[in-house]
Amino acid sequence: MDTIIMRGKPVADAYREAISKKITEAKERGLLVTLAIIVVGDDPASHVYKDRLVKLIESLGGAAKVILMPAETPEAEVISTIKKLNRNRYVSGIMPMMPMPKHINSDNVGAAISPNKDVDCLNPQNIGDVFMGRSRFAACTPRACMATLEHYGIELEGKRVAVIGRSNVVGKPVSVLLLQKNATPTICHSRTKNLPEILQEADIIVAALGKPCFVKPEMVKEGVVIVDVGINAVDGKLVGDVDPAVEAKASAFTPVPGGIGVVSNMMLMECLTRHL
Ligand code: NAP
Repeated sequence: MDTIIMRGKPVADAYREAISKKITEAKERGLLVTLAIIVVGDDPASHVYKDRLVKLIESLGGAAKVILMPAETPEAEVISTIKKLNRNRYVSGIMPMMPMPKHINSDNVGAAISPNKDVDCLNPQNIGDVFMGRSRFAACTPRACMATLEHYGIELEGKRVAVIGRSNVVGKPVSVLLLQKNATPTICHSRTKNLPEILQEADIIVAALGKPCFVKPEMVKEGVVIVDVGINAVDGKLVGDVDPAVEAKASAFTPVPGGIGVVSNMMLMECLTRHL
């Protein structure tokens, strides 16, 4: 069996040209496409992510407006900053880095973002749109999973998919997108009782639980397709939620790093240009 390594770069590259063209055309009309990134506090992962996004948007011809706020910033101040960005016609998209410090309710932050500038689907109106079938508004990571499966020609219709994780940013929306493609998703979480049986039956597994190397070879069937969303730092290295030993049984898998994460960032850029 030839195993397909579903690397993220070719998927991201397939979007790059169209996005960069839109950004260049906007520039010719006098609009510099700008992503506002808000980081509250010192979470190291948020700062790494912010730096990556700045580099990416600049490589596409756009710009980033980075707003750094101290960890103790009151929620009301973060929200009033977002409202100003909503009114700023030079800002095309707004991306607040999560997680926010504990005293800030991230749902309130998401709801404050104008639906038109909500590049990672945090506003309830956009979340509702996704559930109604308007998937282009979905968050960047679920869209990255779907774009990757499509790029590598993975058939979804009629397939049993086990999604591990039910977060609002990954597990729930990816299940809805899979459903729209006529797959049969089963959403699993920390209280799921018969997880090994569900995984054994799955044609495709989307792992998004944030537990390093959680999915083991004995849990999956031969020929399974693995979409590993997990990004976990272990001993200074990044590992997924799926044990690399699973690759020997898989017909296709996304590597970590170099898999879904790369595509997610490009999906965010695509969202930034969707109204141009
Ligand atoms: P999250 O909000 O922490 O959600 C984790 C989910 O996994 C929860 O629904 C939880 O269940 C479930 N879970 C935890 N332990 C489990 C277990 N032992 N068995 C079954 N389910 C279990 O995480 P997230 O934000 O969705 O992110 C998930 C992973 O994806 C993380 O590693 C994160 O770093 C990564 N991520 C990657 C990207 C990317 O672009 N590649 C983007 C976002 C996130 P309960 O609901 O019952 O607690």
